[in-house]
Amino acid sequence: MEHYACILMGAPGSGKGTQAKRLCEHFKIPHISTGDMLRAEVKAQSDLGLQVQAVLDSGKLVSDDLINAVVQSRFGQDDVKRGYILDGFPRTIAQAEALTQILDQLRLPLPKVLLLEVGDESLITRLTGRLSCPNCGELYHKTLNPPRQPDVCDKCAHEGLVARSDDDRATVLKRLNVFKEETAPLVKYFEEKAQLTCVNGEADVDEITAELKSRLSS
Ligand code: AMP
Repeated sequence: MEHYACILMGAPGSGKGTQAKRLCEHFKIPHISTGDMLRAEVKAQSDLGLQVQAVLDSGKLVSDDLINAVVQSRFGQDDVKRGYILDGFPRTIAQAEALTQILDQLRLPLPKVLLLEVGDESLITRLTGRLSCPNCGELYHKTLNPPRQPDVCDKCAHEGLVARSDDDRATVLKRLNVFKEETAPLVKYFEEKAQLTCVNGEADVDEITAELKSRLSS
């Protein structure tokens, strides 16, 4: 069975979500976004959701133990055998080590690591204007990628696009800081394991998709 697997790395706002959706559609593999999984728990007001809500709103990371357990449980589903795109995980070295163990147990190969590189100015502009459709999840930006009709989703015609509660300017700056302090060391970690490829995340969105597709299938 073909197996296309990668960790899509990059700062918040680097385009991981947009690109992961495209790659998953193309390769017919699951999109494992830990941020989306946690937001779904918050929306459902589950025990886990209630536990993590304040941390998400603060822009800090939830604990390694908690997120590792969420990912371990997701890898219990059979669809990961065909591959997957990990988006937002791992974010610390402890999480990267937990992932290696999970994959080892399942006898799955190590994934490629593709890093989307985007400068701080662009990240802030992208994040503070970001909108999504609460019905189908389609992503937009107030000025860089607005819907055809204001506030109406192009894809499913739902009225009322929403901003993430952690996309306000103060929380965005906090999240970028958390990325630099806690997640950037992972770049070196994967580089040393020769798993890492850097991709220019400021290029045209279709060009980035083409580049990622080719890296993932090589
Ligand atoms: P994201 O959608 O990837 O930007 O994640 C949104 C928020 O969910 C983050 O700011 C963290 O609070 C939490 N989160 C998502 N993934 C992780 C992770 N791998 N480790 C810790 N916290 C996470």
